[in-house]
Amino acid sequence: MHTMNHLQVDGLICPRCGVGTLSPARVVETLRVGADAVEVAVDANVCSYCSEHWFDPPAQALIDDAIRRLRDGDVSHLTHIGELYRAS
Ligand SMILES: [Zn+2]
Repeated sequence: MHTMNHLQVDGLICPRCGVGTLSPARVVETLRVGADAVEVAVDANVCSYCSEHWFDPPAQALIDDAIRRLRDGDVSHLTHIGELYRAS
């Protein structure tokens, strides 16, 4: 997960791989907080080559807020969609 300060990045070369170009897309990020996770749909800039997701400050703020609220146990605004298991 990376932040990017440019709001207009369409067609920009990806800073991670230096190969792909970035295009805006709606993505669903799954954010882990300890053993828990929260999904948040945000606008991102997605690399055509390495698929890295880059977030502008408003999108990053949504992600940070979702992580903070889950960390604080503030789940009243969230929809419970499943449980997380580990096979071992
Ligand atoms: Zn890339």
